[in-house]
Parts: sequence; structure tokens; C-alpha cells
Amino acid sequence: MPILNADLHCHSVVSDGTLTPEVLAERAAANGVELWALTDHDEVGGQHRAAAAAAGVGMKYLTGTEISVTFAGETVHIVGLGFDPDDQRLRDGLRATRGGRGSRAQEIADGLAQVGIPGAYEGALRYVGNPELISRTHFARFLVDAGVCKDTSEVFRRYLTEGKPGFVPHRWAALRDAVGWIVQAGGAAVIAHPARYKFTANEEYALFTEFKAHGGTGVEVVTGSHTAAEAVKYAGMAREFGLAASRGSDFHSPDESHTDLGKLPWLPGELTPVWELLAERIQ
Ligand code: AMP
Ligand code: MN
Ligand code: MN
Ligand code: MN
Repeated sequence: MPILNADLHCHSVVSDGTLTPEVLAERAAANGVELWALTDHDEVGGQHRAAAAAAGVGMKYLTGTEISVTFAGETVHIVGLGFDPDDQRLRDGLRATRGGRGSRAQEIADGLAQVGIPGAYEGALRYVGNPELISRTHFARFLVDAGVCKDTSEVFRRYLTEGKPGFVPHRWAALRDAVGWIVQAGGAAVIAHPARYKFTANEEYALFTEFKAHGGTGVEVVTGSHTAAEAVKYAGMAREFGLAASRGSDFHSPDESHTDLGKLPWLPGELTPVWELLAERIQ
């Protein structure tokens, strides 16, 4: 099979991206993407729009989402690809996963108010495209535009990560449930950006082992948040665990994302691209 420019990870205004599914589809096609997936956090509300927009620009499409999971006390992201976006169990699971975001956002704002930043809940809400999906990213955009920090990375570093005033511990979906929702809806589950988790080697091994045991299919090897060395490491993990490999930019915004749609290295050879296992699900 010829090398395919697949980009199977990005976000729209339906979660914490700044572009609509339609504008993302145009941008992906203009950047040479041949197979695309929109993977909004905990949400499939943009899937029909994205698929239609992809068809409109002559680009192949796989349905997508990125589910927030709590594993060994850390937040892990599981990308789902090629599922039925109208599947009721998947939709119910995603709605339950989104459920805690409103009260969590209030607590984030309370934490920020205590360090002299009032009105952050209302401020963040102004950046939200989907009222059910208020994320730390929306707080970060508010704090940048309010002049508190120079960019969103600085906001996360100073305010929104563990031990910082706007960090609120949260319990997301269970790994088994997230993988199960995706698989029973006909899709494939993929561990997103594995190098980004603060796991010990034992915890990481447990994540891959349990993910595989629950029916997981793949791992992101090439992503906008991996260095070349990290891609090599996770290519090895994919081989070791018998997982397919995925590739995705994790593009959120032209102003914030370092990696644009489709502009990332090819998958290393000898790995099975996850989309080859999803050939029948490609639209
Ligand atoms: P949430 O799901 O509300 O916890 O928000 C998580 C999102 O925040 C991720 O999907 C990223 O888009 C963004 N994010 C996490 N860490 C950082 C960081 N260090 N810098 C910029 N954005 C980040
Ligand atoms: Mn995000
Ligand atoms: Mn993620
Ligand atoms: Mn993402």
C-alpha cells in the first residue's frame, strides 16, 4: 500500500479547537491530508459535519473522538476511530464523561479567584463553542487574552497543572469503559500521545497491558506532541504489544498548535497503520 497522509487527531469548536469542522476539512485538504479524522474531546457532535465536509473536499474520512480516562491517578486520552457516531451506548458514555466538566470549571474558577483572578468561569465560557464541553483550554485562552500570561503553555504551567491554583483533580471514564464503548460501536481504540503521561515504567506497562486486554487496537506513534526519539520508543512498544500505529497532529488552532494538519513525519516502517485495519469504516 502506498504511503498515505493520514491525520487522525485534531479538535474543532465542538471541543477545544478554534476552527469549525468545515474550516478544518478545508485546511487538512489544502495541507495534503488524504485521510482525516476529527477527534473532539468526549464528544461526537461534529462527526456528521466533518464527514460531509471531508466528502466536499474529496478527502477520505474516519469518525473520531478522544475520550478522557483516569488510569493510575493520571488522565490518559484514548482516541476512538471508525465507530458508528450514532451508537447510543457510545453517546451515553461520552455524555457521562462530559458530565462533570461544568462543576469542575466552577472549581477551577474558584481556585483562580483565590490567587486574584476573578470572573474566570464567565471569562472561559465566552470561548466555549459547546456548552457541554468547557475545558482547561478555554480558561487558558481567557487568561492569555486577559493579559495574565503570554501564551496558553504559560497558563498551563503556572495555573492549570497539578499543584497549581486552578488545578482540580477529576475522575474521568474508566479505561475498560472507554475502550468498550468504542469497540462495541464498531471502531478501534488507540492510546493518544503516550509520551505525555507522567507514568513510571511499570505504570506505562500496565496501561499498555490493560488497554490490550480490554480490546484496544493501536497507539499513536507519530503525533504533534512526540519528539523523534519518542516516536522510536513507541514504535517499539507497538511492536512489543502487537498494536497498530496511528498518526495525528492533535491540531487545535492556527495560533497555538506547533504542528499543522498533515504536517508530520511518516510512520516508521514495519508497523501496521491502524487505518489498514479500518478499511471498511473509511468513508
Ligand atoms: P481538559 O480536558 O479540560 O483537562 O483539557 C485538556 C486539554 O488542555 C488538552 O486536550 C490540551 O488541548 C490542553 N493542554 C493540556 N496541557 C497543555 C499544555 N501544557 N499546554 C497547552 N495546552 C495544554
Ligand atoms: Mn485539547
Ligand atoms: Mn489529548
Ligand atoms: Mn487531542
